[in-house]
Amino acid sequence: MKVSKRVQQISESLTLALTAKAKQLRQEGVDVIGFGAGEPDFDTPEHIKEVAIADLKNGFTKYTPASGIPELKQAVCDKLRTENGLEYTPKQILISCGAKHSIYNAIMALVDEGDEVIIPSPYWLTYPEQVKAAGGVPVVVETSIDNGFIMTPEQLKSAITDKTVALVLNSPSNPTGAVYSEEQLRALAEVIVDANIMVISDEIYEHLLYDGVKHYSIASFGDEIKALTIVVNGVSKTYSMTGWRIGYAAGPEEIIGAMSRLQSHSTSNPTSFCQHAVITALKGDQSCVQRMLKAFDERRRFMIDTLNSIDGIKCAEPKGAFYVFPDVSSHYGRSFDGKKITNSMEFAEYLLEKARVAVVPGVAFGDDRCVRLSYATSLDNIKEGLERIKKALG
Ligand SMILES: *Cc1c(COP(=O)(O)O)cnc(C)c1O
Repeated sequence: MKVSKRVQQISESLTLALTAKAKQLRQEGVDVIGFGAGEPDFDTPEHIKEVAIADLKNGFTKYTPASGIPELKQAVCDKLRTENGLEYTPKQILISCGAKHSIYNAIMALVDEGDEVIIPSPYWLTYPEQVKAAGGVPVVVETSIDNGFIMTPEQLKSAITDKTVALVLNSPSNPTGAVYSEEQLRALAEVIVDANIMVISDEIYEHLLYDGVKHYSIASFGDEIKALTIVVNGVSKTYSMTGWRIGYAAGPEEIIGAMSRLQSHSTSNPTSFCQHAVITALKGDQSCVQRMLKAFDERRRFMIDTLNSIDGIKCAEPKGAFYVFPDVSSHYGRSFDGKKITNSMEFAEYLLEKARVAVVPGVAFGDDRCVRLSYATSLDNIKEGLERIKKALG
């Protein structure tokens, strides 16, 4: 049997072993506190669920147009106009099986063998793997805690070659929680327009913002940059709908058309009875989002303050998403119980074994100095988990 070269290159998740170990410990009855969650810990709001239940009862259970139902595309156009100042027609919208699927379609539609795609690190670990799956080459631009995990226009410029086809931008960011300001985005947009490359703008965390920080879509800074942008968004994170698998992309008709053709021959339509419910999520009562945000913000504050009070942990103040990404590297080189810790994987292993706390090693996101903790878990869990970490490092 032969596995394609394209797929052979896709790495196994570095975090898989650790997740499996945490799960095994739990099954053995050990109480492990998990900071690994990549999804909100709230239930999907009732008024959204009811729409899907009605669709199921009414038999809205067959194929829909492969690129999504027209009413949902219109609702996405309305959302992008009122919230992001972006004018699109329904032909410029593709509804996919989650934002991840939108990004996959975009990369498959943009990248030929050997083409380069620029990815600022720390990055969402899916981006480089999708680029490799398309036969492309991920070009990583490093940012660090010292510059707030923000890529500068100079860094972008010097990463661009004649093979560059696109940049993947993610603000607010997973894993760092960093949010690009209007000024920073405008400066990047200038470089992108000059170089005439595309940008895939992953805005899935746009509503999870704190301390009065505002989100801007890079596409909103003029017609030139808009013509080079594929905006990707979805309902997973904002409305706690990760399992529904609905996301969307907006962009120039030519590229959205190409992505739609690809989707029509791979997954076909996103699930029929999830689509009307997403219209309700986008257009209905938004107080559910405010409630969730309030809980996240309280946990975020507690987490930053507590982590920074632990010796040798340096935690920036994330302004978005639901993760913190502290630098723990000053603990590298220390020995605990006769075992030396030299990297984020070993650090995470140690916390799991000693403190019964699961965190995600930063190496998975391209930064081995850090680990990722999600605060999409209860404040009680956070208090107990951080207490254990403090003890284990003391
Ligand atoms: C969760 C996540 C997504 C995927 O969202 P889905 O709509 O559930 O596919 C995309 N990008 C980032 C950065 C994420 O963290």
